[in-house]
Amino acid sequence: MPTHMSEIRVAICGILGRMGQEMREGLSRDPELAVVGGCDPRNADATSRGNIVVAQTLGGLLDSTSADVVVDFTTAEAAAENASIALGRGTSIVIGTTGLTEAQLETIDTLAQKAGAAAFVAPNFAIGAVLLMQFARIASRYFDSAEIIETHHNGKIDAPSGTALLTAKMMREARDTPFAGDNVSKHVVPGSRGAVYGDLHIHSMRMPGFVASHQVIFGGPGQSLTIRHDSIGRDSFVPGVAFAVKHVRGRVGLIYGLDKLMDI
Ligand code: NAP
Repeated sequence: MPTHMSEIRVAICGILGRMGQEMREGLSRDPELAVVGGCDPRNADATSRGNIVVAQTLGGLLDSTSADVVVDFTTAEAAAENASIALGRGTSIVIGTTGLTEAQLETIDTLAQKAGAAAFVAPNFAIGAVLLMQFARIASRYFDSAEIIETHHNGKIDAPSGTALLTAKMMREARDTPFAGDNVSKHVVPGSRGAVYGDLHIHSMRMPGFVASHQVIFGGPGQSLTIRHDSIGRDSFVPGVAFAVKHVRGRVGLIYGLDKLMDI
């Protein structure tokens, strides 16, 4: 598909998935962006879908279509592989896929440095969720007790969510001392206190009726503070992805978290 000189050419990995379809629609509406193609193993015949090419693999797609930035919403294994393919061709990548390990992120950073391109990774592209993390970081300095509850649709395959983990990491880094422990010595049902990340408990719920919700609850003598964010539609992630696509160009190496690109 011919694009205007000034448009940023975007390829989407996982374009037939829930997020991929949302990105195709949402990013196409941005006048500064042109979605030029996508890849997804679900596309059995590797033909065009609508007016763009959809290949089964990113390599296959980039052989036939050039892209300025690749956007990935797949699985952690696929995202690591797609990052290596994109960066191997000197193309920057914006990864929304969650569940990447520290080792995978380190490899992606090395590949990006070598390529002189950017690998932008964010576990949550919703601006409200980015603000939730910042507010939680601030509150962590003033409350000794905190726990996180995250709720997602029942199709999500990883737990806890990447957002919950990043929030927990930021909260712990904001403090000089650990959060207060609890007095539970008898776990009547194993796992009843949720996942334990360092000194923070994270509770994961999976059910229809939700897209992505996070609550950070702080407790202190005589008071509690709840910070909550809900993504009620996948369109909540589109502006953040569009922002990242426009801001990764010219950057080099791994950038983690939307707050790094925003002025907050
Ligand atoms: P999904 O509906 O299962 O879509 C993933 C798609 O990627 C599927 O069509 C899958 O095909 C495809 N895929 C697998 N391997 C691939 C590869 N090597 N190359 C290209 N495509 C490949 O999942 P989703 O709900 O869209 O979520 C995708 C990811 O985004 C998850 O990690 C989720 O946690 C994350 N997410 C992030 C944010 C954020 O703001 N950062 C927001 C929402 C979701 P097959 O099914 O055939 O394997």
